[in-house]
Amino acid sequence: MEKIQIVFASNNQKKIDEIQRQLPKNIELISLSDIGCLEELAEDGETLFENSFQKANYVHQKYGVNCFADDTGLLVEALRGAPGVYSARYAGEERDNEANIRLLLANLEGKENRLAKFQTVITLLLENQKHIFVGEVQGTITREKIGKGGFGYDAVFSPLGSNKTFAELTVEEKNSISHRGKAIDQLIQFLSSER
Ligand code: IMP
Repeated sequence: MEKIQIVFASNNQKKIDEIQRQLPKNIELISLSDIGCLEELAEDGETLFENSFQKANYVHQKYGVNCFADDTGLLVEALRGAPGVYSARYAGEERDNEANIRLLLANLEGKENRLAKFQTVITLLLENQKHIFVGEVQGTITREKIGKGGFGYDAVFSPLGSNKTFAELTVEEKNSISHRGKAIDQLIQFLSSER
């Protein structure tokens, strides 16, 4: 099988590890530091689509490599889709996960509707062509943090049909049902069909 090297435009090591575990052996993820890209990638678009394109396009243009970038948001029904594209900075520019969770739980205080979904948008720039993959998982926001694993909002998100939060699942269990897992599955299927 032909080996494919592809840059993943992210500095989040937990995400890189999650994705690497899903990839077949012939697809090698290259990190930003591997290509000498040490700068923070801008993501100041107004949608997940804009942000994932912005990050992938920056790396593609500047380093001339095939690459993909993802952008994820937590969309809460009772908050009319918030925090959405602002999920990382919900409680402020410090991107503090704990503060984000506290604010989310405070904003949902007293609300019966706890429905939410994670959405991941991946933009792949391969041989100058743009390809987009979207993955979603529906769930509910718990009333308090439960579980120690994962990152971000994992400890307050329980996927529909499960009585656990993402933070209580193993990486493999989470990948098999998660927003990013589904988007990555589509990316892998596409890459496999291309070669
Ligand atoms: P990003 O676009 O992947 O950087 O994610 C934006 C925000 O959503 C960050 O605050 C992350 O912590 C959060 N987030 C992204 N993916 C996940 C996930 O799989 N679980 C929980 N939170 C996530």
